[in-house]
Amino acid sequence: MSNLSRRIFLLGGLTTAGAAALQLGASAQPSAAATTPYPFTLGVASGEPDDTSVVLWTRLAPAPTNADGQGGMPDADVAVDWQVSADESFAAPVASGTFTARYAQAHAVHVLAGGLAPDAEYYYRFRAQGFVSPVGRTRTAPSPTTVGRDFTMAFASCAHYESGYYTAYRRMADDRPDLILHLGDYIYEGGATTNGVRQHLGGEIVSLADYRRRYALYRTDPDLQAAHAIAPWLVVPDDHEVENNYANMVRADSSPVLTAAQWTARRTAAYQAYFENMPLRAAATPIGNSIPLYRRVRWGTLATFHMLDTRQFRDDQACGDGTKVCADADLASRSITGAAQEAWLLDGLGRRLGTWDLIGQQVFFARNVNSAGAMNMDAWDGYRASRARIQQGIVDRAVRNPVVLTGDVHASWGNDLKADYADPASATIGTELVCTSITSGGNGSATTAVPNGSLNPHLRFYSDRRGYVRTRITPAQITADFRSVATVTEHGAAATTARTFVIHDGKPGLADA
Ligand code: FE
Ligand code: CA
Repeated sequence: MSNLSRRIFLLGGLTTAGAAALQLGASAQPSAAATTPYPFTLGVASGEPDDTSVVLWTRLAPAPTNADGQGGMPDADVAVDWQVSADESFAAPVASGTFTARYAQAHAVHVLAGGLAPDAEYYYRFRAQGFVSPVGRTRTAPSPTTVGRDFTMAFASCAHYESGYYTAYRRMADDRPDLILHLGDYIYEGGATTNGVRQHLGGEIVSLADYRRRYALYRTDPDLQAAHAIAPWLVVPDDHEVENNYANMVRADSSPVLTAAQWTARRTAAYQAYFENMPLRAAATPIGNSIPLYRRVRWGTLATFHMLDTRQFRDDQACGDGTKVCADADLASRSITGAAQEAWLLDGLGRRLGTWDLIGQQVFFARNVNSAGAMNMDAWDGYRASRARIQQGIVDRAVRNPVVLTGDVHASWGNDLKADYADPASATIGTELVCTSITSGGNGSATTAVPNGSLNPHLRFYSDRRGYVRTRITPAQITADFRSVATVTEHGAAATTARTFVIHDGKPGLADA
């Protein structure tokens, strides 16, 4: 047990007397503790760091999986004290305040803790109803004019709750990264089945209460809580945070049957619950049935994160949602980002804000064709003109170090991005790192032969195990470790590095470590 996890454990068990002794603010009413159950069952989180601030998150839920989605909280406002400290003792907090958690937001807490030093580590905690929360660790980004310290970033996606235990989240936490990216499928919308090692609660989620309860179920997992408590996160959703393979306002499913108005209401509920449960800035507050999510986050002069949304603005999948290819996939009019986001991305890439331009997004970017000529129409292969415009934009702007970070496919892939995928001798114009799933798909297999590798020589690495990608980023290179666990159907597997690649500054593509 690390010092931090021991402290989290200890503080998680504190009640009135201990909380008062910690002198956390003056406004809490410790007398409530005798009758009010512990409200921090969903843990704590942080996210969206810049060089002076970071978002701190928790949500009060003494009965987290109640069917009404309100977590056992009364219809009343609750004062939540918060503190930020440079060390775990909290002897001299550097920032503190009180946030009013409201029933209408399921008592979610989003504090923007400001006035912090750049490139610095902090600890934070909350107090409400006489209880002190677990302690989280977070950090700020370097100032925009400095390179900052060496930087470790991990990224993950696809954590179906029934498919396995969150060992890979736990192993990410063990690495103590500076930043974690989540690239979608944080929850899955399906109803309970008996296919896995544990069960969803209730049927397919549709209402706001359903989505809130599903997030609460996932967030009660201690391994997931550990990953949130160790580092700030940057998150973008994919499809399953709403419904499988939806494209803007077009569903891929017909079950459950929904009218257009009911589908709109469902999307509204899904985005509201996503915002409530993620450490997002107020700028991402949903507006009706949309949520403003694509954004840039700078990490000094070292790196810029361009976080994309490839669901809300895309055209419907071409030729159906499968892998059959038709001429529509090449239509110049079709887009996976929408015109406004595409222009925003290319503008940002052209500004040369940092050494590395890291594009955090959802679905497979490089071409991946099989012997029958089939491709995944839900991925960028189904939006080939869209991909071509971004790749040409990268070439036209001489973007030095573009790296696409991807989830969705439940396997690890390492890819070179080619100027012409039909010509293996054409220029490599960028790199793609695809993380496997945390659990989705179950244990997987030891297979490492690249599927369709001979047809796609730019696809350089594959692994069918669960895990995540860990990167160490310096001005000279990115070192990327594909981390994997041998099982997710039993607790406690070790994480091992299946393969390490290096990306050298100024030389796009994967190199041997
Ligand atoms: Fe998935
Ligand atoms: Ca997905």
